[in-house]
Parts: sequence; structure tokens; C-alpha cells
Amino acid sequence: MLVFEKSRPGRGISALPACDVDVRMPEEKDLRQLPLRLPEMAEVDLSRHYTELAKKAHGVNDGFYPLGSCTMKYNPRVNEAIAALPGFTQIHPLQPLRTAQGCLQVLKEAEQALAEITGMKNFTFQPAAGAHGEFTGLLLIKAYHLANGDTQRTKVIVPDSAHGTNPASAVMAGMEVINVDSDDSGCVDVDKLRELCESDEGQRIAGLMLTNPNTAGLFDPNIRQITDIIHGCGGQCYYDGANLNAIMGWTRPGDMGFDCVHLNLHKTFSTPHGGGGPGSGPVGCKEHLAKFLPGVGVTDHDAHANVDRLSFAKAEASLGEMKNFYGNFLVVVKALAYIKMLGKEGIPQASGNAVLNANYMMNKLRGAYDMAFDPAICMHEFVMDLSRQAKETGVTAMDIAKGLLDRGIHPPTMYFPLTVHEALMAEPCETESRETLDMAIDVFLELNDLAYNDPEKLHEAPVNTPVTRLDEVNAARHPVLKYAFEE
Ligand SMILES: *Cc1c(COP(=O)(O)O)cnc(C)c1O
Repeated sequence: MLVFEKSRPGRGISALPACDVDVRMPEEKDLRQLPLRLPEMAEVDLSRHYTELAKKAHGVNDGFYPLGSCTMKYNPRVNEAIAALPGFTQIHPLQPLRTAQGCLQVLKEAEQALAEITGMKNFTFQPAAGAHGEFTGLLLIKAYHLANGDTQRTKVIVPDSAHGTNPASAVMAGMEVINVDSDDSGCVDVDKLRELCESDEGQRIAGLMLTNPNTAGLFDPNIRQITDIIHGCGGQCYYDGANLNAIMGWTRPGDMGFDCVHLNLHKTFSTPHGGGGPGSGPVGCKEHLAKFLPGVGVTDHDAHANVDRLSFAKAEASLGEMKNFYGNFLVVVKALAYIKMLGKEGIPQASGNAVLNANYMMNKLRGAYDMAFDPAICMHEFVMDLSRQAKETGVTAMDIAKGLLDRGIHPPTMYFPLTVHEALMAEPCETESRETLDMAIDVFLELNDLAYNDPEKLHEAPVNTPVTRLDEVNAARHPVLKYAFEE
């Protein structure tokens, strides 16, 4: 039942005392004609309403959540406690910097830590999410080419396995997308790439967007060759850092030859996400792009001063503002808390365990499930291809996903990457125990048996969830996004 349906006229909470200062109303013409139709409810009923909703949702704290490419790891509660400290929450973006030195220091230290992890020079924290970071990075590349007088460089190479946000960001940045196919191993076809870059088209290439490991969970062994080819024709290399959880502390995008990156602090650096909460997609770049960074960076202009030591400075040829002020600052606080808690030893241990957990699951499921590209070793995620089950039993990746829901597991990412037809892409993350992985493996094996023995059961799933099988096509085509009041 919706909150509007529970509303009863006159109910409510009147905890606020009567106003005891002069009230100055806006002019009549600026006033609403009708009162807002807010639900009227007692506090206890409102509280129960939201608790009921929360129980219907599935989050990282409810159970296993191996949603590929989304890094649904456990987010340590201590990060929340630190981000809730009044020194971080009770500040105003325009207050004198002298009184916010600690916050500037958080930005500075976070920048230094991320620069070290990625092999970049400087970061901006303005972008609010990964896709926003991609857009920012492409604007940096565009600014660089324009500053060099290379106005004809308007094309961006994106592999066919890329996340959908990559081509979308390129188009938003006013660029044209050129797809390059993957080879049979699931990685970039280097010969095709070289052919393209050495052709006349090479002069029009602005750059390349790539995530490594890619969305199939494969680390591209030719990565240095790929970035060299792009640089060879005058392009820049953009690293989509959403999959950094596989490599942090082991290898760096900067060392692979990339010029700029975005990171998803809400994935790799442990901020809760998935419910529409604030994210952060900081963008880092090497020195030659740093003068174009948006927003302001923190400079340490007098290391010996006790007060006013840190201040903000705009980059020399800054491309402007991507968001107001300093981005989603509290997400940066959580990321820094997480990085400091893990430390230099803990960071590679976390990504190492993420890769170990994915390989453990992949190897236990191999046989029952076909692995797309069948890598000997995967990175932090692996892709199952259920084409065989679909052909032999009629049970699809969608049916298996619904069966998982019935057994308390959030399904892997489905039908992605697009290059695999019946794809289920699982990313278990480092924070899951051996017991949880074994439980999930048993469930996957049970569902595969069910596909062969009683496929109808899986077509009917889910039966244990608050809502059963949804009409997903209708939901996507005709979404009902607002409440229709009875007049
Ligand atoms: C999640 C993701 C993105 C987009 O990040 P958002 O924060 O959701 O905008 C981009 N690329 C890859 C590979 C991703 O997994």
C-alpha cells in the first residue's frame, strides 16, 4: 500500500513550536494556488511504512549480492561514523577556508592516495558518479586537443564490450563513437585497432575509452600495445576505473599508459550505492591534462604555517564547473577512511581476495555452467553463458536469476556484456566468506539441476519475493512514476 493510500486527513506530527518571529510571505503571484498534497500520517505509521518497505528490498546487508561490474562489497560502518562527525557535516562551502582546513586536508590526502593508486598526478572530486566522470575525462581530452589546434580530433574508440555509459558519455562530449570488435579471447582485437589508427582515420581520433579488466572480467594482456597504438596516432587514453577493484595495489592505469581515469568511489572505495544515494566519480589525470581540470584543487602554499596552510586554486585553463563546489564531499571522507583503514598492505589484499573469490566460484561452477571466453583465470568477475541451458531446457539466464531471488541471493548482472547472449556476470567481492560462496555455489548448482529436471519451476519463479514475476517489458515501456490522485 502506498503512503498516499494510508493518508487520513488531519493526522500528522506537530512537533514544531509555533513560529515566534515575523513571517514574511512571498508575493501573492508567487504563491501556489493549491496546497501540496502531502500524505497525512501519524509518526508511528510513517515509521512502520518505511520499515515495511525496507524489509522488501534486498541490500548488501540482507544477503549475497554478486552484481557484476557493480562491486557490491560490504561497506564498513566505521566509514559512516567518520563521515558523520560534525567537523565534516556542519560546514558550509562558502565559510572562510581558515575554519575548514581539516576538510581541505581530507581532499588533499584523498587526492594524493588516489594519485598513488592510479599513477595519475591530480584529481578533481566534482564528478558525482562514474558516467559523470567519463564525461569530464572526455572534456579534458577535448580541451587538450583544442589547445593543440587539433580541431579535427572528434572520434572516440570504444570496444564492443564497453559499459553502456562509455559511448553515451562520448556522444554527450560531442564526439563520434567508433566501435572496435573484441577478438575470440574477449579482449581488444589489436590488429584491427592498429589498422584503424594507421589509416587516414588516425588523424581524427581523439582517444580511446577502455576498462581493464574489461566487463567480461578479463585483463587485456596487450594493454601497453593498445595505449601505444593510440598515442602513436595522437590520441589520448581514458581509463574507465569502475573495475579498479580487481587491480588496486597490483597495477596502475598510469603505468598501463592511460592519460586520465575516473574512479567509482561508490564501488571500489566502499560507499553504499544502488539505492540512488550520492556517489562520487573523481577524475584523475597526468600532468599534461591537469591544467584543464574543472573546479578547484587544494594547494599547500605554506607548509610551515599553522593556519591558512591549505587553500583552493583553479587550474590554469580549467574547463569550468562540472558540479557546484567540491563534489559529494562526504563520499570522499568515507573513501579516505576506507583507504587509511586498509593501508598500503590492505589495498592489494582486498583486490587480491576479490580476484580469489571470483576464481573460486568460477572454478566450482565450471562444468555445470559454460564460461564465456573460458579464461584460465578471471579477474574480479566472471561471465557465465547460459545459451546451452536455454537451448536444451528452455531455461534462460532470466529464469536462473529469478530462482536466485527465491533463495535470497541477488542475481548477477544479466544480459551484459552484450557480446554474450545468455550472460550472467557474477562479481562476488572480497568481503564474502568461504561459507557464503559455498552456499551460493550450491544454489547455482541446484538451479542448474532444476533446469534439466523441472524447468517449469524456474519459469514460475520467483514465488518467495514480495512481488512475483514482473512484466518487465511493460514496466520499462510504460513506467508508472507518479501517484494518480482521485479528484
Ligand atoms: C558502474 C560502471 C560505470 C558507471 O558508473 P556510475 O557511477 O553508475 O555512473 C561505468 N563503467 C563501468 C565498467 C561500470 O561498471
